[in-house]
Amino acid sequence: MSKNAKTSGGKKLSGLYTREDRTAAMTAADRKAQDAYAADYMGFLGAAKTERLAYAEAVRRIEKRGFKPLSSFRVLKPGDRVWRGYHGKTLFAAVIGSEKVSAGVRVVGGHTDAPRIDLKPVPVAEKGGIAYFDTHYYGGIKKFQWVAHPLAIHGVVCKKDGSTVGISVGDNPGDPVFMISDILPHFGKDQAKKPMSEAIAAENMDILAATTPGSGGESGGKDKVKENVLRILSERWGVEEEDLVSAELEAVPAGLPREMGLDRSMIIGYGQDDRVCAYAGLKALADLGKTPRKTAVVLLCDKEEIGSVGASGMDSTFFENSIAELVARQEPSAGDIAVRRALEASTMLSADVCAAADPIFPEADSPGNMARLNAGPCMIKYTGAGGKSGASDARPEFIARLRRIFDEAGVAWQAGELGRCEKGGGGTIAKFMAYYGMDVIDMGTPLLNMHAPWEGSSKFDCWMTYRAYGAFFADGHGK
Ligand code: MN
Ligand code: MN
Repeated sequence: MSKNAKTSGGKKLSGLYTREDRTAAMTAADRKAQDAYAADYMGFLGAAKTERLAYAEAVRRIEKRGFKPLSSFRVLKPGDRVWRGYHGKTLFAAVIGSEKVSAGVRVVGGHTDAPRIDLKPVPVAEKGGIAYFDTHYYGGIKKFQWVAHPLAIHGVVCKKDGSTVGISVGDNPGDPVFMISDILPHFGKDQAKKPMSEAIAAENMDILAATTPGSGGESGGKDKVKENVLRILSERWGVEEEDLVSAELEAVPAGLPREMGLDRSMIIGYGQDDRVCAYAGLKALADLGKTPRKTAVVLLCDKEEIGSVGASGMDSTFFENSIAELVARQEPSAGDIAVRRALEASTMLSADVCAAADPIFPEADSPGNMARLNAGPCMIKYTGAGGKSGASDARPEFIARLRRIFDEAGVAWQAGELGRCEKGGGGTIAKFMAYYGMDVIDMGTPLLNMHAPWEGSSKFDCWMTYRAYGAFFADGHGK
């Protein structure tokens, strides 16, 4: 967005809101910084293929930047860099500010789970001489996009002896990949008559696992291919079939993010919703040059794609417990009221992606009120559906403050909503944080074909998202 002085009928108007490509104004130094940022982001995205892998990669990166486990601190002082995790999935990282935590913190909160295909608790089955992994999809997907497409499987198997075995197949050089099969067009006449949402039945999204039969010795001559799969699981990972009951194995698109377009201006990658904002927040936090006035916090949450429920989702006490852990190390005798004051006096950018207007699909556009590529991260005042149902509607006093912060920092930003009235809808973690009384607004990177196996973003928007989060943390005024 930009404020352009324009003339109309000889009378000068100022403060017109326009939404335009902002990349033309970039200097050579800007482009260099943007490209370096994009390359590092792609490295993160390629390593963070699941919420557990994102967590591990995030911790690895911030520990290199001086962050230490919060449990190792008895007292916190300004400038301390700390992190705290939950279930190996949800991360809280903070740089302690010069003001007390009980005076409120600034939060950038994103999520690191993404739509995918989960293996069922008893996944291995054989049909027609082929062994399959039975699956249950996770998050909002267009099922037909996930078939006939190379998949990798990542996750953990937890054993009765307390040990955990990591499994990762399909993203390492030389690995085999997996696939869910589809019917060929020659035979697909019945399928073609179905609505797209029914073209692929969820229960038929079985992943091809193997075709080679075992000896049949253990299966009595029946399900020999399944037997062979179980033998491979046992020999390679020491895992028995019953162990898969206590496993989380996730099939995701195989492959790494790539630059996209002849001009290399875009990025195609799996899970950019919402690892693009998660990475931007984390890097903005780690790059904070001097001790901020307000304690700066980054949240990388799990389970957003299924409603933020569960212990590792934001509809849990993880955030307030983490704030309580900070307060206890600054004001040990202050009690619960100091935690409540901290929560209520905090402000937050709910760092989640939004839909970029797609000229190919104007029917979803709200012209003039939807994000476009190359205009920076988008503030979404409200999400929800229909008459804003389920939205956390940000108050304008807070939005005005953010406009000042971003303009003073030279950050390109835009404002809009999630699509045409009654066409769109969605939710983020914003409402769970608004519960505490804090000011919160959704602001993140615009994406093309969100929730598809491969999502598109603009490098400029990725970089500007990082700059916006950094400006929010560093601003010296107000809450
Ligand atoms: Mn999201
Ligand atoms: Mn999503």
